[in-house]
Amino acid sequence: MNMQSLESALVGRGYLDCPTLQGIVARSGETPDRLLPALLNAGVLVEAEVLFYAYGCEEYEIEPILRDLLKEKKAPPAWLRDLFRNYISSEKQLQQSFEDFLVESRQFSEEEVCQTLARKFQIPFLSLRNTSLGADEFRLMPPELIQEFECVPLRTVDGVLHIALAKNIDRKVEIETTLGKKVVIHLAPRSQVKKVLSDWSRLLPRNSQAANGSEFDEVFLDDENLTAQRLADPSDSVVQLINQLMFNAIEEKASDIHFEPAENHIQVKFRIDGILFPIQTIDKKSHQALSGRIKIISELDTTQKRAPQDGRFKLRINGRGIDFRVSIIPRIFGESIVIRILDKLILDLELGHLGFSERDLALFEANILNPYGMILVAGPTGSGKTTTLYSAITRIASPQIEIVTIEDPVEYIIAGIIQIAVNDKQGLSFSNGLRSIVRHDPDIIMVGEIRDSETAQIAIQASLTGHLVFSTIHCNNTIDVISRFANMGIETYEFTSAVNLLMAQRLVCRLCPDCREADPNPDRKGLFRGRGCLSCKGRGYQGRTGIFEVLPMNETIKTMILNKASPFAILAEAKKQGLLTLRETGLEKVQQGMTTLDEVNAVTMDPQAFGRQPASFSKA
Ligand SMILES: [Zn+2]
Repeated sequence: MNMQSLESALVGRGYLDCPTLQGIVARSGETPDRLLPALLNAGVLVEAEVLFYAYGCEEYEIEPILRDLLKEKKAPPAWLRDLFRNYISSEKQLQQSFEDFLVESRQFSEEEVCQTLARKFQIPFLSLRNTSLGADEFRLMPPELIQEFECVPLRTVDGVLHIALAKNIDRKVEIETTLGKKVVIHLAPRSQVKKVLSDWSRLLPRNSQAANGSEFDEVFLDDENLTAQRLADPSDSVVQLINQLMFNAIEEKASDIHFEPAENHIQVKFRIDGILFPIQTIDKKSHQALSGRIKIISELDTTQKRAPQDGRFKLRINGRGIDFRVSIIPRIFGESIVIRILDKLILDLELGHLGFSERDLALFEANILNPYGMILVAGPTGSGKTTTLYSAITRIASPQIEIVTIEDPVEYIIAGIIQIAVNDKQGLSFSNGLRSIVRHDPDIIMVGEIRDSETAQIAIQASLTGHLVFSTIHCNNTIDVISRFANMGIETYEFTSAVNLLMAQRLVCRLCPDCREADPNPDRKGLFRGRGCLSCKGRGYQGRTGIFEVLPMNETIKTMILNKASPFAILAEAKKQGLLTLRETGLEKVQQGMTTLDEVNAVTMDPQAFGRQPASFSKA
């Protein structure tokens, strides 16, 4: 063994500190190959510690507990060494944790091992041997959660629930989220938790026990390996897989996670900056467990597999709460699942960051300060329209102004405004929701989307009667909006009196600042490309920026619309006044090195191009 690496490893892993090591080296005057005996002689290490390192204990993740036991118990090194050799050479390490192995060896009690673990995780230790728990304690938590997390509710102190558990300590946040209250965890020996829980379950009314059992049986009927217990086990591969995917998706700033079942596998994809990237495939055998787990955390019906379902859940990741919206749709190869990540951290609502040119930003800012009228943003789904409107609302929101939105669905909760979600099942549509909002007479109204003539009519009337109305519409460009409203039966004089500003918007991927370079393609002299680097994970792009087309409805344009001028004539006049089309603002950004021609082509050549391939893929 190389002594240099042993030395640095021993220091690095906290076996001894640097001054101690240097002192021993200086005092003993030993050459590196004689250092080990010197360390042993000096008593700073025991033989077993060196051996454990030499055996590569870190692979077995048992080193911390061994070290603590060594320090506390001062067990004979030779004995510990044999125990450890026995463990790694036996088959046991495959099925049994080292903690359990230690308990089974009868040299350490379960409580001793548990106490050591509690110290390691800095969680209070609790022995359940002499505690008396009754029905009152078990009413502190719903029975199905006690079973799922295998925890013992103890007491509530100042609204904080104390629970004891033997595993699942890494699911504290999940428990808190599910219960909606703070939780303090106590670590208790596994056999004691098991005993308390089995005593308690005997007290449960028969029918509820049967109901709980059958729920899981039914869900996983065709997956015999999956049990309620496995579902609650953090070492369970499916739970771990989902947690890991959530975490990775947040890190990658993905907006959605897709689980798409195929004949023999499930394809996992992340949508990053609007583009779907295949991430990994999962064995088809895990499909039931996967959808079951996602349904449980989103409070959906686990037995329903033939109808679409929508749900939500919240997780605390990296110290912040993140909302997730789940949509499950049955497909030919099983349920397809999409999880939308509503991470407020990546929602940048600063108007100046949306990608407006100076002229367009000035026009937009001036118009959102109007006391009444209508501002319309056109574009396909996923073009950033709603974010633009949220930015406008955030900018003008104040306690003196009442702002009400009606959205389908409400994506981000914005402080200080009233947000209402369309709910078709309960008869709350855009049109009748909007009608009742208008009756409440707010100052500013945001309508998520104008889809039908009824909604268009009410929105126009609201803006004509002293409200400022923001909305979006599924149109390709600003000029198309004019004919679209005419087709919905809106009179041109109503349209021109109501509307202050028409905009169209798309999103393009922004070149990665860390690997942006001159495009070597001679046809693209002076343009840039992303070579692909670690910080953009080889994609060449990072984040997105908007491209806009802004058409202010001034007197000239209004008169042309009233006189039924052709769309071309209106566009020509608007351009004369300084309007840049979507494509032109896009090309401007290509010139500035903010994005590429591929990106601008993808969103301005084919207006229906959604779910498109990454530009770097199509180039290949
Ligand atoms: Zn890069």
